[in-house]
Amino acid sequence: MNLNQPFERVSNTKDLIDKVERFIRQQQEIYGDFSVEIAQFQQIQASQSDSEKNSDNDNTLEASISDQQETSIANSKSELSLNEKIAACQTLDELRALCTESEELLTDLDGTNLVFGVGNPEADLMVIGEAPGYNEDQQGEPFVGEAGQLLDKIMAAINFSRNDIYIANILKHRPPNNRDPKQEERQRSLPFLMRQIELVDPKLILCVGKISATTILDEDTSLSKLRSKIHSFHGRELMATYHPAALLRNPKWKRPTWEDVQKLRNRYDELGGK
Ligand code: URA
Repeated sequence: MNLNQPFERVSNTKDLIDKVERFIRQQQEIYGDFSVEIAQFQQIQASQSDSEKNSDNDNTLEASISDQQETSIANSKSELSLNEKIAACQTLDELRALCTESEELLTDLDGTNLVFGVGNPEADLMVIGEAPGYNEDQQGEPFVGEAGQLLDKIMAAINFSRNDIYIANILKHRPPNNRDPKQEERQRSLPFLMRQIELVDPKLILCVGKISATTILDEDTSLSKLRSKIHSFHGRELMATYHPAALLRNPKWKRPTWEDVQKLRNRYDELGGK
């Protein structure tokens, strides 16, 4: 049965079978044994389907490993202690995000906004106050009220604009009735502030007011004892002076504050502040 030739007429079934057998033999001579090829084909098919199965399995395995990894990363993140979460923050934005969700920073005044920090994130001078007031809470920014305006003037007098420095507070939320931050509120907020200091990495820190200076230096003493000297603080230098709100109430502290900030500027320049 040559397909290129016209069909031979077959008179009966036996003739037909003979012709088919001959045709198959001819084809086998040309193309080899069909049954072997079919067997090979079946083998190939079988091995292909095995490898497909394996590759499906591989894909499923990979997907499940990556699911497991994701779950384990998520679990380990949620298993981190608060201090580990704080230490894991690599940028101020990450720390701010953590502060946003941290109930440890709240005071007993409901519905306050986070007042994280403001200014140059690479500043060589960091100014630290005690806690946000009404205006700061409203605007989410430290030192924007009357005391903040005086702070800007003091800084301008020693040639710093708000954009040159970084400003933060010990507390990140406003206490009710502008009361002093309680000791336990300060301790809850301190680890966040310490990480904030590390991330800004200033050469020099200026604490304004007794609460800021005594909390950070962990010294229970008067501001007059802490001001006018350079303290060493975790590999950095720190100075303390009067809080601008105190100067508004008591102008006699303006002169010593002026002396302190002039020393601050000199030290900043000596340290190569930019
Ligand atoms: N007083 C502070 O200590 N911080 C502010 O942000 C505002 C006033």
